[in-house]
Amino acid sequence: MLVAGGRVIDPAHGIDEVADVLIENGKVAAVGGEATATARAGKTERFEAAGLVVCPGLIDVHAHLREPGHTAKETIATGAAAAARGGFTSIVCMPNTTPAIDNSGTVALIQDRAEKVGKVNVFIAGAITRNIAGEELAPIGSLKRAGVVAITDDGHCVQNNDLMRRAMEYARMFDLPVMDHCQDYSLVSDGVVHEGYWSAALGLRGWPASGEETIVSRNIMLAELTGTHVHCQHLSSARSVELLRAAKKRGLPVSGEACPHHFVLTDMALAGSERYWAGDGREWRGGEAERPRWPAYDTHFKMNPPLRTAGDREALLEGLADGTVDIISSDHAPHCEYEKEVEFDYAPFGIVGFETELPLALMQLHHPGRMPLRDVIAKFTANPARLLRLPNKGHLGVGADGDVTVFDPDVEWTFDLTKSASKSRNSPFAGWALKGRATATIVAGRIVKN
Ligand SMILES: [Zn+2]
Repeated sequence: MLVAGGRVIDPAHGIDEVADVLIENGKVAAVGGEATATARAGKTERFEAAGLVVCPGLIDVHAHLREPGHTAKETIATGAAAAARGGFTSIVCMPNTTPAIDNSGTVALIQDRAEKVGKVNVFIAGAITRNIAGEELAPIGSLKRAGVVAITDDGHCVQNNDLMRRAMEYARMFDLPVMDHCQDYSLVSDGVVHEGYWSAALGLRGWPASGEETIVSRNIMLAELTGTHVHCQHLSSARSVELLRAAKKRGLPVSGEACPHHFVLTDMALAGSERYWAGDGREWRGGEAERPRWPAYDTHFKMNPPLRTAGDREALLEGLADGTVDIISSDHAPHCEYEKEVEFDYAPFGIVGFETELPLALMQLHHPGRMPLRDVIAKFTANPARLLRLPNKGHLGVGADGDVTVFDPDVEWTFDLTKSASKSRNSPFAGWALKGRATATIVAGRIVKN
């Protein structure tokens, strides 16, 4: 396949120019003049990308596909379809399925299903502890041999610091990055929203930022002690970003990710749309007519970690811009409608994210001029590939896997949740006017976007 005439942005190779990309036998065969020359006229499938951005296939390092065990929420097939629609060619599924991904059998089952679906590359994160219970280590070596790309207890957090240390020592022996959902249970207790003004005003139990920061600090200290790479997942607080920045300055093997909901929204959204658009949301693009409405206590704004303040949101954007936060992920977390249609305290945490992730990132980082487009793309491509040690992903060098995302950074559209490819509908961004969208998702030289 020849992806012709697009603006090719390949952050890993410092390329940003109009060029052709030739994919042969599932691999990148050539970029630029050589691609144009080698493409056999009439025999090579062409995708016209003039006026569009062509970049390495986007990678989402944090997704919940719910299979096995919770297929009413999502399946590998529907999750992969939603990922493809959002422009993602590779996703990493979290191990908090039922059963948990804490053994090689479950890894093999998911690999088998993902291969049958054949849509996007599904990489697997194994559990740190057996059954994600935080009590004894999962068989990390056999998980690695089965093919996991990282370990995490995501959804949960290993509270025992010594156990976390041992996990990191094992992970180092097997050259696996450790990813962590940073949450101190004693501090967070049964908190449901950010502890601050709005938790008090709305009478909801608080989830203090220190509940995240304590574990981010712990992880940094253990990274120093063990030399193992620790990746802090879905960072939400200003102080977490500050801690990570200081740790990186000291050369420690740490990285972090942020999700669009945390760098677009704030906890003021819990007071309803009217309050939000007049307050923390007032700088969002568009006029009245373009701004959707929602009530106070809307459970689609309930996530873990919770939405925080405008100051935290700003710190995340700064951290992304200065390179402290390496990766953008969705934390795609599907839940059935009936599960979210309950009192705020009882609703599950999390939202779907694949289809809104790229436009929200472009709108907060690229369009306002906060970051060059190339650097935004790196957070979806080169950086996650480096974290996961995937040398053939995240760039368009000759011989790399033929995964390419083609997107229009400027197209305006409205997110119609009813038409989502995901099985679930739990998004706070229903009806939002967005800018930027994937045009084609190409996996190993085949268009998979639906
Ligand atoms: Zn999590």
